[in-house]
Amino acid sequence: MSMQTRMWKKLNHPQKNDEAVREAAQLLLDQQVVAFPTETVYGLGADATNKQAVQRIFEAKGRPSDNPLIVHVSDRAQVESLTTEIPPVAAELMDAFWPGPLTLIFHSNGAAAENVTAGLGTVAVRMPDHPLALALLKAADKPLAAPSANRSGRPSPTTASHVYQDLDGRIAGILNGGSTGVGLESTVLDITADIPVILRPGGVTKEDLETVLPRVVVDPALAGGTEEAPKSPGMKYKHYAPEAPLWLVEGKDSFFAETLAACKARGERVGIIASRELADAIDHDRIIRCGSRRHLSEVAESLYGALRAFKEADVDVILCESFPETGVGAAVMNRLNKAAEKKVKDQ
Ligand code: AMP
Ligand code: MG
Repeated sequence: MSMQTRMWKKLNHPQKNDEAVREAAQLLLDQQVVAFPTETVYGLGADATNKQAVQRIFEAKGRPSDNPLIVHVSDRAQVESLTTEIPPVAAELMDAFWPGPLTLIFHSNGAAAENVTAGLGTVAVRMPDHPLALALLKAADKPLAAPSANRSGRPSPTTASHVYQDLDGRIAGILNGGSTGVGLESTVLDITADIPVILRPGGVTKEDLETVLPRVVVDPALAGGTEEAPKSPGMKYKHYAPEAPLWLVEGKDSFFAETLAACKARGERVGIIASRELADAIDHDRIIRCGSRRHLSEVAESLYGALRAFKEADVDVILCESFPETGVGAAVMNRLNKAAEKKVKDQ
């Protein structure tokens, strides 16, 4: 697989009739795949109703075919076109959180291609809160299946250049909208059961959902400690891995410093991902700061960039701080637990 990947110049105030947007939409209608920014991470889009187009997403990413895709829409009519019914709870959630980082699982009416839904009978749908994503959706006038625009297993892309690093020569084009805002993927919420279930924590937090829903539970498979297969098939794969092994360090700042000292004593070259509070407290040159531990949305925003920052050739191990699992911290820690090769805890 090798093709010329088009890079359009960055669009600041995108409209559906901008030349770049029209060209990208035409590629989508020609069954090609095009990467575009959303408010969460960059997505890799294809016509969700066309099996052959969707197949190209799996090939470009190297994604396992049993991992279904999220369909992106620009209006409610497109949701209706994909689902058997929109239950009242869905209408309330859409009113409260769309456009935004909340994906809802509906019963599929079969309009989405079978490789989008992995034959589950359900379809995941969301409306992204990004002007360029919405302009592209309107120009193509099709629902777009769009997983994160990275090679499978790598950290999700939060800039157009991350997409280029992973997918140059493998996709038809990349729309550039600068850095994404949230930085982590959407929350996936299954509303096909009586009590809605969070299958993946993300930009809309459990606390946010509780302002609208009387009850919401977290998929027990997410919390670990159960043999049950995750309901969101994607959650079982290795994900978000940096090039060097990542150790997630849990404990006081003094414990982090001791762990660092032990690595150095073994002659290891260490990279560190830490909040600015921890970074200020330790003496080391290879530190990537990822915002304040008091503002976990900053950590979410910079996490994937930080995971991409260290190259295999430069460090032997990456030590990463652990964060509180409140608010968007739940999504941050979900991704870090999946990226980590090992957890180091203060006893
Ligand atoms: P990504 O597209 O890489 O952000 O991953 C999409 C996530 O949504 C994966 O974890 C999928 O397993 C999950 N997902 C997509 N469609 C469904 C569905 N119909 N039922 C349950 N989970 C889904
Ligand atoms: Mg992904």
